[in-house]
Formats: sequence, structure tokens, C-alpha cells
Amino acid sequence: MQEHYLDNAATTRPLPEVVSLIQETLLGPYGNPSSLHRKGQEAEHVMQSAREKIAKVLHTEPSSVVFTSCATESIYTALQAALLKNRRLSLHVLLPRGEHAATSGALQALSSYASLFGREIEMEYLQNLPDGSVSLSDLESKLREDTALVTSIHVNNETGVIQPIEKMGALIRSKSPKALFHVDATQSFSKYELDLSRTEIDFLSASAHKIHGPKGIGLLFQRRGLSMTPLLRGGGQERGLRSGTENVAYIAGFGLAAQRMEEQRSVWEDHCRSLKQEAVRLLQESFPDISVNGPSVAEGAAHIVNLRIPKVRSEVLLHALEDKGIFISSGSACASNHPEEKSPALSALGLSTAAMEESVRLSFSLENTTEDVKALRDAMTSLIPMLRRFT
Ligand code: PLP
Repeated sequence: MQEHYLDNAATTRPLPEVVSLIQETLLGPYGNPSSLHRKGQEAEHVMQSAREKIAKVLHTEPSSVVFTSCATESIYTALQAALLKNRRLSLHVLLPRGEHAATSGALQALSSYASLFGREIEMEYLQNLPDGSVSLSDLESKLREDTALVTSIHVNNETGVIQPIEKMGALIRSKSPKALFHVDATQSFSKYELDLSRTEIDFLSASAHKIHGPKGIGLLFQRRGLSMTPLLRGGGQERGLRSGTENVAYIAGFGLAAQRMEEQRSVWEDHCRSLKQEAVRLLQESFPDISVNGPSVAEGAAHIVNLRIPKVRSEVLLHALEDKGIFISSGSACASNHPEEKSPALSALGLSTAAMEESVRLSFSLENTTEDVKALRDAMTSLIPMLRRFT
């Protein structure tokens, strides 16, 4: 059976050339980058080259890039570091509704640690506009002189709404100069232009597996001059900011994947957006009651769209499509491990539980074709009337 993978916001297939580079790195420069001998230096050189590629994508210096095991680790590290740094100021944190579980989970854990020391993290959610994007006027009114941290996703993984991070950064710097700003760029890194030399961002997190790199490797950007408390201490790798022997082969793969994504950025955007528009057009042609949750197809991120299909349970549809070789998502892949927190971004849009249970996410990559979209339309055309009979 032919496969149609439309779940690229959950993860992407690694590029063959990335896989080859990982294999070559595992077998060739396999030394420990901290070793002083030649084998170590070879590995260090591979890592440095990947760091430079990633720094170039972000318009920053290589020494601001720290490699971690995943975006979840980067986010946790950044939020903890920001709160520790500003702990004398306050523990006031501002964030949009609908953040990924990696952020809400980190804040939950940090809140419980803070309470051990008799402190409380004062979390305040920002109002959003009808498409899910942050209200800048609400941010402006909630920023305080003693705000410790603002954290925001860049591209929402469920709805594809793009948060105005450049404008948020400028507001934060002017109204709360001491507040630190973290951006979860896991869905946008290298896909969207972001010039960190011109943007007021202190920390940024991303992950390789969303851009056709390997799973299990992430990055944390930390603005130059900012001292940061590490999450992991030990051997002092990554200039003391993240101890543990580096995953050199995956770091090499991450660098190459980021370089390729950046090179193809505009092709990627046009390709994904036109497939997304075609998918929504074809589906709405057959089922006019299908609606888009969040930003319009023209406005959200090119690769993500969230659809509500009335009177069809998304999980049942997902498995019925899977039987036909089509892979989509209901909610975010991570939320499926926490059914009780099903869909933070859709709840932020004010959807009822029933509406959330009828919502699916399609997400595209350069590997998708119109054949995938047509296969989805054909499968939905036969499945939806049948599933609706059982509702
Ligand atoms: N943040 C966002 C927006 C994501 O989409 C994801 C992955 O689903 C993560 C964080 C976590 O990424 P990782 O799996 O690399 O920890």
C-alpha cells in the first residue's frame, strides 16, 4: 500500500543525505570531542562545522548555540535559567495560551520546585485574537517592571498560528528591560527567516526532527553575554552549559538538515502552502461544513492546518485513514500522551470539548505531493459519510 504521510508537524522523515552523514560520522570521526588527541579534534571539528551552519541560519555567532537532546530539554533549561537569573526581581511569567506541553510541563515542574523554597511562580496568560495570535496590547498592559520571563511559541504546532515574536521582543525590551524572552521555535526554525541579531530574543529552542534531521537532538540559543545556569552539570561540555558527551553524529545531521531547509526555504513555503490550500479546497468541496480552526489557510504557517469535521470523531477518522496508508494527527503528537490536556491551542481558541474531538491536523513537507492530497480527499469522501452514520 502506498503511504501518504501528512503528519510533518509531529516529525519528518530524515533526509537520505542526513542519514548518510550520520553514519559516516559515527564510523569516521568517532572520537570524544573533549579528547585532546587527533580523534577528539576531528569530532570537535565536525561539531563546530554544524554549529556554524546553525548559527548562520539564526544570524548569530556559533558560540551562542548549545546542543541539547531535544527541544523539550532546551525549553526546560531556558525557563529554569531565566527564572533563576531574575529570581530577585520576581517570578512573574507571561505566556500565550495554547503553548506546547514542553513549556507548560516545565513551568509546572518549576512551580513545584519554587514552592519548596516558599516562592510561587506567578503565571499570567496573554489574551489572544480570534486566530490564536497574541494580543500585543494585552502583552503591553501585562508587562511589569519586575516581569521575570516571557515565553512564547513561534509557530503553534496545532493550528499553525504565527506569533508576532519580533514585535513581542521589542515591547518586552521597552517596557520590561529586565524580563527575559524565550521563544519555542521548534516548528519554525530554519523554515522561517529569523534574524537574531535584530530581534530581542534571549533564548530560543528548536529540534532537528522537525526539519528532516534525526530525533533526539535539539538546540538552545542563548544571547551573548547572558550567564545561564545549566540544567545538567558534570563534564562541562558545551562551555559548561550542557554537560554530557555530545551526540556528534546527530549534531552533524542537524547542521546539514538546517542548511538544506534554509536553502529551500521559499520553495518549501510555496510548496507546503499550495498543498495545504488544495487539501482544504478539495475537502470543503466535498464537505462544505468542514471549517478551519485558527488562522486562515493564507495566513497561518505554510505547513500546518487544523480542520474541524463536524460529527466525526477525529481519533476514529485517524485510525480509519491509517488503514488506507494515510497518516494525520488529532491534536499534537505529544498531547496524545496526556489525553487530559488534549489540545491546548484549540482550547485557547475557545473550542468546546466536542469540537476539539472533531478536529484534525494536517501538516506538510517538501516530500508531499498532490497525490497525497488527492488520496486524502478520496479516503475522506468514502469514510466521512460512513463515520457520520455511527455518530
Ligand atoms: N515545542 C513544539 C512547538 C513542538 O512542536 C515540539 C514537538 O512536538 C516540541 C516543543 C518538543 O520537541 P522535542 O520532541 O524535540 O522535545
